[in-house]
Amino acid sequence: MTAALSLADKGKEVLLIEKNEQCGGLMNSFERDGFRFEAGARGLVNAGLVQPLIKEFALDIEILPNPISLGIEDKMLKVDGENSLSLYADVLKDLYPESTDEVDRIIQAIREIIEDMKVLYGVDNPLFAKEKRNILTMAPSVLAWMLKFVRTMYRITRMSIPFEDHLDALAANQSLKDIIGQHFFRGTPAFFALSYFALYDDYIYPKGGVGAFIDKMVEAVGVRGGEIRYGTEIVYVDARNKTLKDSAGSEYRYNKMIWTGDLKALYTMTNDESIEVRALDKFRTTKQAILAHKGAESVLSVFLAADLAPAFFRERTSGHVFYTPDRRGLGTVHTTELQALLQRWDTVHKEDLYAWLDRFCHYNTFEISIPALRDPDAAPPGKTGIIISTLFDYELTSRIRAKGWYEEFKMRVEELFIKTVASGLYPDLGDKVLFSFSSTPWSIHEWVGSSEGSIVGWSFEGEIPVVTSMLNMGSSVQTALPDIYAAGKWVYSPAGGPTAIMTGRMAAKRCQ
Ligand SMILES: Cc1cc2nc3c(=O)[nH]c(=O)nc-3n(C[C@H](O)[C@H](O)[C@H](O)COP(=O)(O)OP(=O)(O)OC[C@H]3O[C@@H](n4cnc5c(N)ncnc54)[C@H](O)[C@@H]3O)c2cc1C
Repeated sequence: MTAALSLADKGKEVLLIEKNEQCGGLMNSFERDGFRFEAGARGLVNAGLVQPLIKEFALDIEILPNPISLGIEDKMLKVDGENSLSLYADVLKDLYPESTDEVDRIIQAIREIIEDMKVLYGVDNPLFAKEKRNILTMAPSVLAWMLKFVRTMYRITRMSIPFEDHLDALAANQSLKDIIGQHFFRGTPAFFALSYFALYDDYIYPKGGVGAFIDKMVEAVGVRGGEIRYGTEIVYVDARNKTLKDSAGSEYRYNKMIWTGDLKALYTMTNDESIEVRALDKFRTTKQAILAHKGAESVLSVFLAADLAPAFFRERTSGHVFYTPDRRGLGTVHTTELQALLQRWDTVHKEDLYAWLDRFCHYNTFEISIPALRDPDAAPPGKTGIIISTLFDYELTSRIRAKGWYEEFKMRVEELFIKTVASGLYPDLGDKVLFSFSSTPWSIHEWVGSSEGSIVGWSFEGEIPVVTSMLNMGSSVQTALPDIYAAGKWVYSPAGGPTAIMTGRMAAKRCQ
């Protein structure tokens, strides 16, 4: 969307091809019986990108606050500025009185990262500043930003080790470490994981939902003469003749193409014959590296409508919550225990799976989103829609499907998720559920064609086959294919909404 809008704005002839009937991919909203939900990101991380983008393209959208609450057992903290970090430390010390020094060390590490984040995200990214068209006005702000940026980059590079290793160096209490980190993707670089506390204050919510932001972008592409073709899945790329083919057999010619789907799909649907001989070696090596690696963990989400007014929930939390029902944390439930379950899968009974699932839910951390607490129009009067989710393994989901347990498993998950938040956070909720449904890593794989249902691109476990240094982010949009650039969550790691926007802009620049 960012790439299409940026190019249409430059007067380029733009065709955006989308396999679904709506744009936005993992940024979307949908309605069910009068309740509005987000199937992807529950809010937007501004990251010095979203607000400038809205300003630059004059998108007519109201931005609402998106305060975050952090809850562990019965302790709830509403994040509001930097002081919240001290309050968070107090909560942790209350929960783990035997580990106060460890808490101090972890909080100090987070505090240092927040200082770095102010450089990265606190200043509007100059890529999206209107003044950039005038090089004289642009230069000082870019220079100032770059100087701070490079200094910050040095520190970030030093903290690119997995967050688990970083926490091991700071603390020994496994439960404490779990509570800090179990809602991150395994192996997430320490800087990215620990910076999340700073991001809590950076979330925003568009009036009308995340999808409303996308709708405005779609509108803006159209106003600038860009064309969007929905329900059209690209299945073949001929890089030599600069032609794409969709699943219905229609062909499209391009001068320059920006691929924003899964890179595995791009390299799979491009074969040697469509590559010029001089580019063949690079193409083959890149393809091999891309196909050898897998996506990060995906998400399991339960959507429910409650016959309770938003005020009931507002008394307890804000509209976006990270909640852990038990201070003991997941331990090895989602790592070695899960691996053991997968290894003996042929002999696993449904009861074994559900026993594991019970523990997985009891000790896990959940992201809870209540759209109506941010935008009252998100639910019918006196009622509230809620999304409860947690990271989940794609491989396990596939095996559950293969055994024919999928639908029953989803019902079980809905019951368990609702029971977990009802018993700890929202008493009364259990009896007031009007309807519920769920989505799994498989749903995400189906919806956007993401390998392993990944929502943030590559797994952090093992070698990552794309650019991982922010200093080289500009080159992340290059591919091994002539006149084909790439953007989105697969081209740079770590990724998420901001990376998709940033690389979309960078790829567009290469096409101007
Ligand atoms: C539950 C959830 C919570 C999240 N929370 C956050 C968060 O808090 N912060 C954050 O930064 N990020 C978050 N994310 C991740 C973020 O939403 C994504 O990383 C980001 O939106 C990815 O954007 P993208 O454009 O790279 O890819 P996608 O959103 O996957 O878009 C790719 C698009 O390409 C289309 N496509 C794919 N293949 C083809 C094809 N062959 N032909 C035609 N069209 C095709 C897809 O249909 C899709 O529309 C979350 C995601 C989820 C699911």
